[in-house]
Amino acid sequence: MAQEHDSIEAFPESLELTDDDSVLQIVWDDGHISRHRLDALRAACSCAVCRGHHPSQSLNLKPEQFPGIRITDIAPVGRYAYHIVWSDGHDTGIYTLKMLREMDNPG
Ligand SMILES: [Zn+2]
Repeated sequence: MAQEHDSIEAFPESLELTDDDSVLQIVWDDGHISRHRLDALRAACSCAVCRGHHPSQSLNLKPEQFPGIRITDIAPVGRYAYHIVWSDGHDTGIYTLKMLREMDNPG
């Protein structure tokens, strides 16, 4: 099996929307389970629109701004990220596996 040293070692085995579609649950192939509230995930979007090209341009998004946000579509980008389309029409968000693994929040 080939090793990719520039990416994280674990890879998502399954992605599932739980808790009345308000939480994205990821089961990693090393057995770890990540649970991301969708409002927090939406607020953490790191695309150029949400973050700007300079910190002063950041929209400073907060989870409270996205009550009831849902995922409309989610698709893998290569083996390093997922492209998520949101129910508010935002469709430029790319969430890297590293980010999904590291921004683990309980609940
Ligand atoms: Zn964004």
